[in-house]
Amino acid sequence: MKKVVIIGGGLGGLTAGALLAKDGYKVTLLEQHKIVGGCATTFKRQGGFTCEVGLHEMDGVYSPAIKKIFDKLEVYKNIEFVKPKEFFKVHSEFGEFIMPDGVENAKNALKEKFQNETQAIDNYFEIIFSLANSLEKLSHLQWYHYPLFPFFFYKLLKYKNKSVTEVLDDLTQNEELKLILNANIQYYNDSPNTLSILLHAVAQSSYYRDGGYFIKGGSYKLSEYLANVIKQNSGEVITKATVIKASKNEVTYSYHNNNIILKADSVISNISPADTYKLFDIAYKEEKQIAESISTIYIGFVKNLKSVYGKGAYSNFIVEENKTFVFVDYSQIDSGLVENTKSFGEICISDELKNWESLSGEEYKKQKEELLKNCLDTLEVYYPNIKEIIEFTEVATPKTMVRYTKTPNGTAYGYKPTPKQFFRVPKIKSDKIDNLYFVGQFVIAGGFSPAILSGYMCFQTKK
Ligand SMILES: Cc1cc2nc3c(=O)[nH]c(=O)nc-3n(C[C@H](O)[C@H](O)[C@H](O)COP(=O)(O)OP(=O)(O)OC[C@H]3O[C@@H](n4cnc5c(N)ncnc54)[C@H](O)[C@@H]3O)c2cc1C
Repeated sequence: MKKVVIIGGGLGGLTAGALLAKDGYKVTLLEQHKIVGGCATTFKRQGGFTCEVGLHEMDGVYSPAIKKIFDKLEVYKNIEFVKPKEFFKVHSEFGEFIMPDGVENAKNALKEKFQNETQAIDNYFEIIFSLANSLEKLSHLQWYHYPLFPFFFYKLLKYKNKSVTEVLDDLTQNEELKLILNANIQYYNDSPNTLSILLHAVAQSSYYRDGGYFIKGGSYKLSEYLANVIKQNSGEVITKATVIKASKNEVTYSYHNNNIILKADSVISNISPADTYKLFDIAYKEEKQIAESISTIYIGFVKNLKSVYGKGAYSNFIVEENKTFVFVDYSQIDSGLVENTKSFGEICISDELKNWESLSGEEYKKQKEELLKNCLDTLEVYYPNIKEIIEFTEVATPKTMVRYTKTPNGTAYGYKPTPKQFFRVPKIKSDKIDNLYFVGQFVIAGGFSPAILSGYMCFQTKK
């Protein structure tokens, strides 16, 4: 039986491991943290709270690409996906707008609000859907497409070097419309000026067409389930196991102060190429820019927010001049994170490790307190007196991300998805070591569905 060792138990590693274990490979997955999941996990706090580390909305849950994987792994039978009733709500200097779910609903709501912009709105949706379709086609490229590539893929060639700002500026001069079409930028990047229109097109069209979903009980349910599939198929999942060295057929990990060597026919890495090659002691200079990290404020409420403020939106993007963040109100869905009389919420803000890493202990604590105060003050504008019903808060910074996931700069989104960096062939197989494969956020892009897809691509490449 072929032995596969997987470095890291994020969604990419777990998906590849589960598929390979079911296919008869002997899988050993090594995870440095005490539980698997990486960014796709939860933690518990007093008062009955299960705190979601990150998941707001997973796209593509029932798309053909993900369905193929989830059917194979029987995910739908074991994991419950919950759908918020709208895509997002945006609060900005222009006022509020709710972006509904579904392409036609979204177009209609936008056209009703922007009656002089109907052509721009139609053009926008035409562009993002045709780009997403072209990228989908590109992944199934046949030999006969090559001579006619410019004909089949002229849209891709036209837009591949463009940012979201460039495309939106060509479509309309209406600043509010541009802001709304791009309000959830935080899911992908820190600025529309540097975000590839291709990534925006693939991800946004997927959310509009198929909706976004939360995992009932938190994202760890999915990670834990995938780890169980590995175990139930003669594999092993070892936590608190940090890989410290690797070579062609051996992986060394540290476990309770012992160094243990494992033989492997192949190695799958769920960590960045730079960190992987360091383990293999191979010279590698990362040329690509790494995406930003995130600061997150976890909030437990003594009351159910929906019962206090009424029906509202689940994902709320608050766009202000110096501060933009998303507040996820999990009370708006059947989240399974806490009993119904209480609720859980989360603020996420784009951030960088360099803003935190050189601070002293005292400075770090103070900066966290300031971030918390600023965000809660802003939140109170939209949810009056919300501070009075808080049971606990906890702030995680890019430093926290590094501690728990060991990703470069504490990123959760792989390489920065600029036009130059996003349009590339995903590299599953290493070109430096024969039996080394990559999965996770550095393969296609960050996000649940790209990480899961990378696991499937690895499985297909290895088969
Ligand atoms: C706050 C936040 C909000 C998010 N919101 C969303 C969202 O709404 N929708 C969405 O689709 N995506 C979201 N994401 C992004 C998404 O969670 C990630 O892109 C995705 O889960 C990354 O998966 P991965 O396979 O790259 O593994 P990672 O999560 O990067 O995990 C890698 C694993 O490798 C382990 N590891 C590292 N080094 C070693 C070593 N030497 N030995 C052993 N183990 C090691 C780490 O501990 C970790 O468990 C969010 C992320 C965060 C942090």
